[in-house]
Amino acid sequence: MSFADLGLSDKVLQSVTAAGYSQPTPIQAQAIPHVLARRDVLGIAQTGTGKTAAFVLPMLTLLESGRARARMPRTLILEPTRELAAQVVENFDRYGANHNLSVALIIGGVSFADQDAKLTRGVDVLIATPGRLLDHFERGKLLLTGVELLVIDEADRMLDMGFIPDIERIVKLVPFTRQTLFFSATMPPEITRLADTFLHNPVRAEVAKAASTAATITQRLVATGADPADKRERLRELIRTTPDFKNAIIFCNRKRDVAVLHRSLLRHGFSVAALHGDMDQRARMAALESFRNGSVSLLVASDVAARGLDIPAVSHVFNYDVPHHAEDYVHRIGRTGRAGRLGHSYTLVGPGDEKSLAAIESLTAQSVTWEGPTLAELGSDGARPRRESSARRGGQRSASSRHDERDPSQREPRPARESRSARESRSPRESRPARESRPPRESRPARDRGQEVRGRDPRHSAHSSADEPRVIGLGDHVPAFLARPVLKKSDT
Ligand code: AMP
Repeated sequence: MSFADLGLSDKVLQSVTAAGYSQPTPIQAQAIPHVLARRDVLGIAQTGTGKTAAFVLPMLTLLESGRARARMPRTLILEPTRELAAQVVENFDRYGANHNLSVALIIGGVSFADQDAKLTRGVDVLIATPGRLLDHFERGKLLLTGVELLVIDEADRMLDMGFIPDIERIVKLVPFTRQTLFFSATMPPEITRLADTFLHNPVRAEVAKAASTAATITQRLVATGADPADKRERLRELIRTTPDFKNAIIFCNRKRDVAVLHRSLLRHGFSVAALHGDMDQRARMAALESFRNGSVSLLVASDVAARGLDIPAVSHVFNYDVPHHAEDYVHRIGRTGRAGRLGHSYTLVGPGDEKSLAAIESLTAQSVTWEGPTLAELGSDGARPRRESSARRGGQRSASSRHDERDPSQREPRPARESRSARESRSPRESRPARESRPPRESRPARDRGQEVRGRDPRHSAHSSADEPRVIGLGDHVPAFLARPVLKKSDT
């Protein structure tokens, strides 16, 4: 199927061609003809599936006839976060380049005056977060009785963020006869109830199971101790050593931890920005832009801030915390492996995370492979297992213990905290500018290269006897009596 088969206007088809899209994504192919036919649509699709264009493109076609009136927007799009709202504006700018439409963004954190002025002139498309929209309404600056089409995007996220009462209020303010498009990545019972209330005889467009993770993403679990310093150190180690690294989003469960981790990574010389809900709008947009344009290679973020962000080329996602809601795991790692690219996700798992991890594995119906020792192997003190644990397993080594042979840090019991001097001694390598925060291996100091060579096979290293933990048991030495042939009774 081509875009031309969907019934979009010529102007919209031109901008689709200009965007370089050769064919519609499944959600676009399913939804666009029904939106153009003025049907209500229930779209079950995650971000990354092209769902924004699935409503923006037909809206542009529909808006080509008619005119906006002062304070009475013709269409309304509700988004859970400011970033998502701003991203929808970008979509209108991109696809609506041939249209002369007025698009207004009503979000918190920016001045009411500018937003008022725009509303007064009349807008074709109003894109808003629920709270700020109701603020404008209560100040008498806005009438919603002219809304012909309402989009409720990321409904399940609205639910998580406690916006449902606001949404219910807003829906009562728009005409009953409106057209409604309702998008959600997941359909928990509360969202199904809302969809039943808001939509009239909807067409259902569903593209992927909400719980599914893309096959293009390599997922790994990494066991850590409970000590935050230990966790941060493990993360830094991963950033430095993981293959194919270009850039990464690092997710934390709490805003406070986003700030702490951001400061810590900066102190260690990484090129990093932070994104969380307590930052003002300008700072959030600046952080996002610096990550998008590559001037920083790491973005530490909370779920709310990062939900649905359109950053096509992320090579890695690190879950610094295991998310409390299993669905967040699917959304987080969905930031990588987009648009057919390969992606990698690493989830740090500490003591107490077992329940959340089990919920993720049950939701996604897959068990994720451990990189290095499992949490059980790591032990309750968080110390990494000693070499004998893998040696004793002999020929039956697991994938995780095989990994131990590559990475010396996985084998060696380390002190709980690295000394300040040890940390500082490494900093010159990391205090490089943005894109060089992970230099190619060849250019790293000999000391580090040596560690990596040792990591592959400790017996080939001149340092191994000094650096390795004391070998317990037989180690690599086979005593002569074990090598002697065994004589059976019948042989004598
Ligand atoms: P979304 O699911 O709306 O966040 O879109 C994810 C990404 O897909 C964005 O970078 C869009 O520019 C891109 N995209 C949207 N529609 C298409 C299409 N038909 N072909 C290729 N890429 C698309």
